[in-house]
Amino acid sequence: MTHDYVIIGAGPAGLACAIEAEKLGRSCLVLDKGCLANTIYSLPADLIFFSTPDLLQIGELVFISQNFRPARAEVLKYYRAVADHYRLKVSAFEKVTAVVGENGGFTVETLRHNGERRAHKARNVVFATGYYDNPNMLHIHGEGFSAKVSHYYSEAHPYSGMDVAIIGGKNSAVEAALNLYRAGARVTIIHRGPSLSDSVKYWVRPDIEKRLEGGQIKAMFMSEVAEIHPAGIMVRNRSTGEVKGIPNDFVFALTGYHPDVTLLKSCGVEVDQYTLAPLHNPETLETNVPGIYVAGSIVAGLNNNKVFIENSREHGKLIIR
Ligand code: NAP
Repeated sequence: MTHDYVIIGAGPAGLACAIEAEKLGRSCLVLDKGCLANTIYSLPADLIFFSTPDLLQIGELVFISQNFRPARAEVLKYYRAVADHYRLKVSAFEKVTAVVGENGGFTVETLRHNGERRAHKARNVVFATGYYDNPNMLHIHGEGFSAKVSHYYSEAHPYSGMDVAIIGGKNSAVEAALNLYRAGARVTIIHRGPSLSDSVKYWVRPDIEKRLEGGQIKAMFMSEVAEIHPAGIMVRNRSTGEVKGIPNDFVFALTGYHPDVTLLKSCGVEVDQYTLAPLHNPETLETNVPGIYVAGSIVAGLNNNKVFIENSREHGKLIIR
């Protein structure tokens, strides 16, 4: 069978697109190399969203959460309910390896988690692949030491009593620092800027500022981690050039993420070399390759702090209608 749409990515933007297709009676298959809403699944276990439920809802299905801001588990439950309600065809753990063909006659080649290879026929292909899978790397000695260095933070409990360094100065770094401190870790934030970012949410800021003032959480500003070693890290002061060693058990490099545009480019989609934004028509989200569309944060390339669930959930309407 040939699907009207194959959508790559089962996050909110991909699901919203599939809902629009279903509403108009178009056949649609959603593929994801991870699970449904995999990015949200990969966020810290006890994360409370900055967005309110009304801004996260898709397909006009009301999302009610217990509190003003929903917890990650509630958001996952909501998107599962949405996929069930609209009977979306979602194939999880199926990674797209190639998209070949042309407008009206694409073949989407995939590899399932169990090693099975598949090929799906599609008239149109939508890339809703997000950006969370590709951390901004530091390219420093020891970064690949996966037993102690991670670009993702999940929960604090294992790090009680440990020396933990957090690299970064925005919201992920600050939330992780506070949680780790409260679980009994000795936390040092290492940030290349002169202070925490202005983008730290206003309701989180007083908490971190008090902890920094009181010395319960340490911070090294204008600083960068130069090397990571088994028992410590070397930190360079960017103003003076002085390098200092501090004891360390674990490093969370919460330095942000960027989209992977390799597959898009392999289909002939032009991508801005600086912003990584795919060339597209803003009214239809069709790229320069007829029949290939973009949805969600990938539309903005590296400027992923401009496209959120709340402003990308309308992308489906633009594409399908
Ligand atoms: P981010 O906003 O991209 O911040 C990355 C931080 O890492 C910045 O402070 C940046 O420094 C620093 N950095 C980047 N590259 C670096 C390098 N090579 N060396 C040293 N430092 C580097 O990432 P994020 O905090 O993970 O946030 C990602 C998204 O998730 C945002 O949209 C955020 O609002 C959202 N978020 C939501 C929640 C929630 O809903 N509860 C919580 C956390 C995050 P500069 O400041 O100098 O650029």
